[in-house]
Amino acid sequence: MSQVASPNLPDAQGHFGPYGGRFVPETLMHPLQQLEAEYFRAQQDPEFQRELTYYLREFCGRPTPLYFAERLTRELGGAKIYLKREDLLHTGAHKINNCIGQVLLARRMGKARVIAETGAGQHGVATATVAAMFGLKCVVYMGAVDCERQALNVYRMKMLGADVVSVKAGQQTLKEAINEAMRDWVTNVRHTHYILGTAYGSHPYPLMVRNFQRIIGDEARRQILEKEERLPDLLIACVGGGSNAIGLFYPFLGDASVKMIGVEAGGEGIEAGKHAARFHGGSLGVLQGTRSYLLQDEFGQIQLTHSVSAGLDYAAVGPEHAWLHDQGRVEYTYAKDDAALDAFLKLARLEGIIPALESAHAVAEVFRRAPSMRQDQLLIVNLSGRGDKDVTQVAAKVQL
Ligand SMILES: *Cc1c(COP(=O)(O)O)cnc(C)c1O
Repeated sequence: MSQVASPNLPDAQGHFGPYGGRFVPETLMHPLQQLEAEYFRAQQDPEFQRELTYYLREFCGRPTPLYFAERLTRELGGAKIYLKREDLLHTGAHKINNCIGQVLLARRMGKARVIAETGAGQHGVATATVAAMFGLKCVVYMGAVDCERQALNVYRMKMLGADVVSVKAGQQTLKEAINEAMRDWVTNVRHTHYILGTAYGSHPYPLMVRNFQRIIGDEARRQILEKEERLPDLLIACVGGGSNAIGLFYPFLGDASVKMIGVEAGGEGIEAGKHAARFHGGSLGVLQGTRSYLLQDEFGQIQLTHSVSAGLDYAAVGPEHAWLHDQGRVEYTYAKDDAALDAFLKLARLEGIIPALESAHAVAEVFRRAPSMRQDQLLIVNLSGRGDKDVTQVAAKVQL
């Protein structure tokens, strides 16, 4: 196993090895450079760090518990399983960690308007929430198909005072919503900040979002050392764009004894071609500002993806994950829809916790791995969000 995973990446141009970078029209170069400069200044500014810590604690509810899943552990009979409870955060998922960080940056830059893209609506809701809290104008771009599938989240965003723009181009899902958000940003950049929702896109977003999410791993590291007086043996997280996973993994990258598994959406199967497992059928390409693994056809056309969980349903993966994959530092696997649904229901019954369908992909991998691990081994799985948003969808599929 390679140990070259460097906590110092990306380089000055935003490259994680051959991945990442900045592939945008000329008009976006300047805003990205400005954002990068402001972000680096803020990182060094104790006042910014103080504010960030304050809102993460007082508004979002950090630190989140590292909870020992006793019945799940007993049921599987192997490794001792801990759940990192990001589902307990305000708005119900890890997305708010990044939104708080970026909205504070927007304020520093004197921008009175924020925009965002959203798929299932979780990032849109988190963005609308922080915008409401600071009294900023907020516009969220969402594919028309997603607006229909996630009507409840559309209404939540509107309640919070955001304008939701239903995007009717192309497949009418996340990819088109991102295009529309970038177009808005180019036009309104003087008074608008674009709050991108995952560890993806042009430099500095993958770096910045990872750093706002690394609090998950920083806390988990401290908590497991307090509880067990040693490091975990295995970390598991689901991978959409990759922000909750890199948030958990990053602070452990230098610890060679800690193994890590990222779980993508296997959908209805790799053979069926209905999935979003970029490391199982994807290839190198450029999409929406960065170079990474993409699901594309031989002509470079982006392929249709499928997953039961909207949050994992995207054709590309964050560039840092692509690099960690190539180095063998993180293993990437996938869970299919049915395995995720099964894990969703089992966690509810065994632990009294209904996970997000995204997180249920990580839990499905726990079901596969934990039984063959020793009882003195420690496993941490990231519960990136709670499943309330998914109840209607599951009810339509599973008869109880
Ligand atoms: C958005 C979302 C994800 C996927 O996004 P990442 O950037 O890969 O973390 C996972 N879990 C939940 C609950 C989400 O809302």
